[in-house]
Amino acid sequence: MADRKSAQPRRKERKEAAEVSKDKKEDSMQAEHGAADGAPPAGDGETEALAANGDVQVEPMELPPFELITGDRIDPFTFKFQFKNVEYSSGRNKTFLCYLVDKGAVEGLARGYLEDEHAGLHAEEAFFIQILPDYDPELKYTVTWYVSSSPCLACASKLVETLKSRKNVKLSIFASRLFEWEEPEIQTGLRALQEAGCKLRVMKPLDFSYIWDTFVENEECDLNLWEDCKDSYEYYQEKLADILQ
Ligand SMILES: [Zn+2]
Repeated sequence: MADRKSAQPRRKERKEAAEVSKDKKEDSMQAEHGAADGAPPAGDGETEALAANGDVQVEPMELPPFELITGDRIDPFTFKFQFKNVEYSSGRNKTFLCYLVDKGAVEGLARGYLEDEHAGLHAEEAFFIQILPDYDPELKYTVTWYVSSSPCLACASKLVETLKSRKNVKLSIFASRLFEWEEPEIQTGLRALQEAGCKLRVMKPLDFSYIWDTFVENEECDLNLWEDCKDSYEYYQEKLADILQ
């Protein structure tokens, strides 16, 4: 195993660097687009000139921090980069969380996704604030997450508390990659989650196709799974089984 790992990372990292720059370009495009939709940024020349003439009163408006995004379907390039189950996840400093929430026959099924910037709330915590803020003990909640990486220690602890206080929430987490799985505290966190009733799984190749069909702007095309998808799944699956046994 060690041999396989040391033989491959250079090639993988180089390939990923190209993808990171593409991803960054998309991010900056989104940021520009966002600014155009909202208030003009401070220092906008035209607005200042008008204000100087006394024609308009400019109220400085603070834009909310670019931290959390919720949505219906993920951009396909973003999906392929963020969910790729490589061992070396450099450049992926955010978590994507696709969710399905079943509140029983009356309420029906809700779906969507969240992404965080790891600057503020992590997606796992944000889910219970933004997507499922209310809890009705009379209902049964079946919640399924497909996350780009497994929870950090802080999120695992918060999830344990949430599951203890919301007994009718059944949470299943399918993770593409295991976040810092070699760290003993992370392993403890994952075990605590399991003990709190959370089902933890590593995504199989079929799960990636399911997410593609359900949560990605797929333009009706099938997903071509990347090379090593199955090998990486088996690698992470083995690690998780060791941690949780
Ligand atoms: Zn976290």
